[in-house]
Amino acid sequence: MNADEILAQVAKEVAVCQKCVLHHSRKNAVPGEGPANTEIMFIGEGPGFYENEQGRPFVGAAGQFLDELLTQAGLKRSDVWIGNVIKCRPPANRDPLPEELAACDTYLERQITAINPRIIITLGRYSMAKYMPGAKISAVHGQMRRIGNRFVIAMFHPAAALHQISLKPAISADFAKLPQMLEQTRAALAKSAPAQPEEPKEDPKQLNLF
Ligand code: URA
Ligand code: SF4
Repeated sequence: MNADEILAQVAKEVAVCQKCVLHHSRKNAVPGEGPANTEIMFIGEGPGFYENEQGRPFVGAAGQFLDELLTQAGLKRSDVWIGNVIKCRPPANRDPLPEELAACDTYLERQITAINPRIIITLGRYSMAKYMPGAKISAVHGQMRRIGNRFVIAMFHPAAALHQISLKPAISADFAKLPQMLEQTRAALAKSAPAQPEEPKEDPKQLNLF
């Protein structure tokens, strides 16, 4: 299966998944969306009210703010993948439980493997904890870490910034740094890429043939 087919297959499975109790209260599962060949994945927490209604990620107030932040960073929503660690809305938007996160993780893992992004941007604590267990978001937000062949940047959740207005400048500043960080990752990965076979060089001594 190619990456598009894997993403479609995961979406199909998620729509009927019953691996955790959240399937009881969902209207629509939210598998996530975006092009399979993108270099950037944004990973949030889980669907809220509007996402559950529409089956699409980040379409409520937090989504509108995320759209603004993406625009500030020179990114188009249609160029990146956007999804969540949890695919079904927790009742009354409660925090996901450890067993729900564990049950749902295989879907996200398959999506990440299929897309193989250069950069993962975690939005909020739950997706951050997947890559930086024990980290404090107030300490690590906006910093880029290399994890294997990828770079992970933890950001505040846009909804948190809407509720706690003092976080807004911080999340805006982190997004404003994104273009520069994207450039850094390109350079860093190019350097560590396996050496390309060198083009045969012309031997200067053999150039004066005439
Ligand atoms: N918050 C999230 O974490 N994810 C969504 O999809 C919407 C709001
Ligand atoms: Fe399945 Fe994830 Fe939905 Fe739970 S939240 S039912 S594991 S898709």
